[in-house]
Amino acid sequence: MTARIIDGKALAQQVRARIADDVARLAAEHRVTPGLAAVLVGEDPASQVYVGMKHRATEAAGMVSRQILLDADTSQEDLEAVVAELNADESIDGILVQLPLPGHLDPNPVQELIDPSKDVDALNPYTAGRLAVGEPTFLSATPYGVLEILRHAGVELAGAHVVIVGRSNLVGRPLSVILTLKGRDATVTLAHSRTRDLAAVCRQADVIVAAAGRAGLITAEMVRPGAVVIDVGTNRTEDGSLTGDVAFDEVREVAGAITPVPGGVGPMTVTMLLQNTLEAARSRRGLPRR
Ligand code: NAD
Repeated sequence: MTARIIDGKALAQQVRARIADDVARLAAEHRVTPGLAAVLVGEDPASQVYVGMKHRATEAAGMVSRQILLDADTSQEDLEAVVAELNADESIDGILVQLPLPGHLDPNPVQELIDPSKDVDALNPYTAGRLAVGEPTFLSATPYGVLEILRHAGVELAGAHVVIVGRSNLVGRPLSVILTLKGRDATVTLAHSRTRDLAAVCRQADVIVAAAGRAGLITAEMVRPGAVVIDVGTNRTEDGSLTGDVAFDEVREVAGAITPVPGGVGPMTVTMLLQNTLEAARSRRGLPRR
């Protein structure tokens, strides 16, 4: 069997066009233009690329994008003051603080400070807690993107066994909660670096989501024939190109469907950040989210 390749880029274009329509309608009907603020501390090249991508995508969707670039030696106090200002700024609906921060800064109090109604990155513990009790406010963008990809690909989640590899607060853990919510009803195994016999665990999966940040971790012998494989990993190779956590060429011969890297989850992550910003703009004004 050769897997169906799930084109995340094409899906992202489709969803972004719909978001742009919704943004235009919000402006026409309610005179509201959603605003997203991205705070970048320092000059980490990868972070600059991500913030730039988000900026262009936000503007292309017809929203206001504000980039706040702070020196690498910005103090904790000054960073928190910037977030407090954005909390109070009515023209801003979504706030994200690009991670990682320089070593002298603690990201936790910064994330905690973000107004939950503007927490489009979903890293505030309040947002995580709301998800944990089954009343989500925002879904963090990468898990949300994975969910949309699975929905678009027609994957039946109810009762399916999903093995997620990686338990980070950014990807694996929130995705495990999202997929087990009532209405999604998957059976989830959250695997991580201490999981015994990862290959055997993965072979039981109807769906594998690889989010470990280890190039080529998921090989063909770990995949049950016909399983769906979603590759969240983004790893830099020596030549500077991007590769996932899945050994794509061999796994595509076994899987039923697979996302490539690049062109899979990545474009959907940025897209769902836009979706969250739109949802924030609507719900902050008492409008239904979608
Ligand atoms: P992280 O380093 O915070 O977490 C990695 C997780 O993988 C940990 O829970 C660890 O236990 C697990 N892990 C590591 N090695 C393992 C192994 N050999 N076997 C099993 N589990 C293992 O990383 P993160 O922030 O969750 O990101 C994971 C990957 O996803 C990275 O490559 C990152 O670049 C990528 N990512 C991509 C997007 C996107 O939009 N495509 C967004 C976020 C993260």
